[in-house]
Amino acid sequence: MDALVLEEKLNLSLRDFPIEREEKLGPRDVRIKLHTVGICGSDVHYYTHGKIGPFVVREPMILGHEASGTVLEVGPEVTTLREGDRVCMEPGIPDPNSRATRLGKYNVDPAVRFWATPPVHGILRPTCVHPEAFTFKLPDNVSFAEAAMVEPLAVGVHAATKARIKPGDIAVVLGAGPIGLVTALSALAGGCARVYVSDLAEKKLEIAESLSRAIIGVQVGKDDLAERVKRDTDGWGADVLFEASGSPKAASTVFEPLAPGGCVVMIGGQSDPISYDTGAAMVREARVENIFRYAHVFPRCVAMLSSGAIDVKPLITRKFEFKDSVRAFEIAASAPPADVKMQIELPQ
Ligand SMILES: [Zn+2]
Repeated sequence: MDALVLEEKLNLSLRDFPIEREEKLGPRDVRIKLHTVGICGSDVHYYTHGKIGPFVVREPMILGHEASGTVLEVGPEVTTLREGDRVCMEPGIPDPNSRATRLGKYNVDPAVRFWATPPVHGILRPTCVHPEAFTFKLPDNVSFAEAAMVEPLAVGVHAATKARIKPGDIAVVLGAGPIGLVTALSALAGGCARVYVSDLAEKKLEIAESLSRAIIGVQVGKDDLAERVKRDTDGWGADVLFEASGSPKAASTVFEPLAPGGCVVMIGGQSDPISYDTGAAMVREARVENIFRYAHVFPRCVAMLSSGAIDVKPLITRKFEFKDSVRAFEIAASAPPADVKMQIELPQ
């Protein structure tokens, strides 16, 4: 079948890739015809750098992990899905017998197999086989495009869950990329009264502010974030801060806008060790949480898209046909400031 293959760093091709042979439909698996696949920062990073941390592309690998599609075939023991169902898929498959999985923390199972993380292939291809347990049926009012946003949204919802948001909390999100924006939406859905989003790019902040009148953009280098938050909260600070920029410089400042007893959630990946002010954390008795992907949140994300509690449609800024996938990645790698999420549609 034709697939978008990362041959090696900076070398992508759309070509026949004989993966069907490896893909046997197990009794609890479903075969899915892919419809929409989002381009993630991690896909782009593998393309431009050939690796992320310890994960190195050593052999040609199919990219893509943010996906929706239609069920083509189900294994004999599948009970919740049938042919023709519209679905989205959680891309990480843990070992069901691992200690982490048995403890309910399957996302931190060291044996997890995650789409488009070497050596596991992604899903920029016509079909795939996936476990029923990680495949979620879509209500009629959730589009394939929205459903392909569930994967990044899951990161925001997991982060908001870890923060233990209370209604009326004030939040700060560092970074207005796709993950920063889904985190801001998740914080509002979790009950935050206001969310301050900071970024260097003015255009990204305009997009952020267009999502909700409860989102306030703060431009790094122009406004002082900590000062602004303190000024608006009678000097108290924000209850929750999400670090979603992945910038070591931003991460070093996470406690400055934080209220006493507040919580910092580290979301953005850092390629090297970073430092932050533990003294500032101490005097606030700050709680620091770290997240790795997500667990148990896909059905919640689908439910919120269906009810309208979260609207991700404004984040989808560009669509490409599958035949233009290589060009789509070249454009994504140039990081156009007015784009949030680009998606690829497969022929149906
Ligand atoms: Zn992603």
